[in-house]
Amino acid sequence: MKSERVLSGLPISPGIAIGAAFVSDDGRIAVPDYRVAQADLERERHRLTEAVALSLKQLRKLKVKAAALPSAAAEEAGYLLDAHLAMLTDSRLVRGADKRIGEDRVNAERAVQMELSRIGDSFAAMGDAYLAARGEDIRVVAARLIRNLTKTPYAALQRVPPGTVIVAEELTPADTALIDPKRVVAIATVLGGAEGHTAIMARALALPAVLGVAGLLGQVEPGDTIIVDGGDGKVVINPTAATRNHYERAREELDQERRRLARFRRQPSVTLDGTEIALEANLELPRERELALAAGAQGLGLVRTEFLFMNRDDLPDEDEQYAAYAALVSGMEGKPVTIRTLDIGGDKIAGAVASEGPNPALGLRAVRLALKERRILDVQLAAMLRASSLGKVRILLPMISNVGEIRTVRGALLQAARRLRRRGIEVPEPLPPLGVMIEIPGAALAADALAAEADFFSIGTNDLIQYTLAIDRGDEQVAYLYNPLHPAVLRLIQFAVEAAFRGRIPISLCGEMAGDPRFTPLLIGLGIRTFSMAPANLARVKQRLRALSIGEAVAIAHRVMAEHDERKIARLLEET
Ligand code: PEP
Ligand code: MG
Repeated sequence: MKSERVLSGLPISPGIAIGAAFVSDDGRIAVPDYRVAQADLERERHRLTEAVALSLKQLRKLKVKAAALPSAAAEEAGYLLDAHLAMLTDSRLVRGADKRIGEDRVNAERAVQMELSRIGDSFAAMGDAYLAARGEDIRVVAARLIRNLTKTPYAALQRVPPGTVIVAEELTPADTALIDPKRVVAIATVLGGAEGHTAIMARALALPAVLGVAGLLGQVEPGDTIIVDGGDGKVVINPTAATRNHYERAREELDQERRRLARFRRQPSVTLDGTEIALEANLELPRERELALAAGAQGLGLVRTEFLFMNRDDLPDEDEQYAAYAALVSGMEGKPVTIRTLDIGGDKIAGAVASEGPNPALGLRAVRLALKERRILDVQLAAMLRASSLGKVRILLPMISNVGEIRTVRGALLQAARRLRRRGIEVPEPLPPLGVMIEIPGAALAADALAAEADFFSIGTNDLIQYTLAIDRGDEQVAYLYNPLHPAVLRLIQFAVEAAFRGRIPISLCGEMAGDPRFTPLLIGLGIRTFSMAPANLARVKQRLRALSIGEAVAIAHRVMAEHDERKIARLLEET
């Protein structure tokens, strides 16, 4: 009988799930095998060097994480990670693989695999238990290298049996996009912050999730029973019967609450004094459209188009993008659909679009990348324009920091429309509104100027908080500093709202803050009348605003904005 273990992490996506653990990083990755031309050998060796560097970075991150464990476990994990780090620094494995690329002219993945089996054979020949264990460590390190080389998402996630809890070191947004919610009941990982895109994706799929769980991988074996309480940030491995009963009851209560909230779906979204508040849905994956409609969304306030670019090595062409946007627009029954241009970079990566730099969050991300790789922007705008003849489309630009960027994209939009018309394709006149995300502090502070160029604003609090407070939204180590109620963040929101009013353009809020009913009175009090959020949050937010008057909301906002202490602000909101 295995003993029960309870671990804590970040509560990412609420809900309780009980299932069988699937430990995703088992190292069984299909290894591509091909010959490399003489002229490409240097590039292949560089790929290996890069993969080694990335692996070292991951291991160092894991070491910091392991330090948070109780001391004995921290020490043990520390030794193991040190051993792995050593195996990547001027080791037989890396040196050997590098040599094989040069001599055998094989690809880096294959070279690592060949070197691994050679080392494994020599260890096995010595018949020593200690060395056999080291052999296993080398296998794990080599698997990490190969994974980083192939950049393979966990394709295996699609094939897990129903009732699976995914346990992993880290899941990228692309991995998470592959998850089939009919098979996977929850996820738990060692790395990952509360507002990164993996977290957002888990919430979008309404999948209970706990990220940032130190010591998780060492404690779970494949097939172990595991409970994930995503609201509380707890992971229970091999629960006792009593614990299991407790969580089953809690899950039943949550289900009851969900059924009660479902009543709000069809009720109008108005405050006590009759002010209409538009509640729209964010969409990361096409399958969410139905969820959004079923949850009573009044439109799609943010379509993140990254899904079209993930888990593939080529770029989607205009027809493919058009088909995807057209399905969304037609499927939304005449409700508005806000499609955002590609926001790759930072913690979101796509195979065909590389945006690596020393600091990805401050680098060629989002609209910057699109303006550099103009073809990506032009194709995307053309597809959006075509879809705009099927319904109400708005085009949204991510990471705008200055008016020049808006002018350039507007020029590109006009050009794209002209080109389409020349091809005999119908494009509505006037063209769809072109709006910008307010998610860089500088954009919020220059919102007056941006309002003169943009047709609407959408506040992206996830990045606004990240950049204002200098906190990586995907890094669990600084997640404790990630605070939507920091006065600096609230002032930037207020400033942007006022600028939109003065510029007479609509403003909405589509960051994760929109979906948290604790913030609803404050945000309405600051003047926001349109929110966009994960479909699962719509009912709760509607319940909150239907019990609120505008006068009350404004009074709360006044009190909050006069307060400088974040804890007091949080308390003020809890009391309302
Ligand atoms: C945001 O930054 O708040 C936002 C909505 O965009 P994303 O989360 O996709 O960066
Ligand atoms: Mg953003």
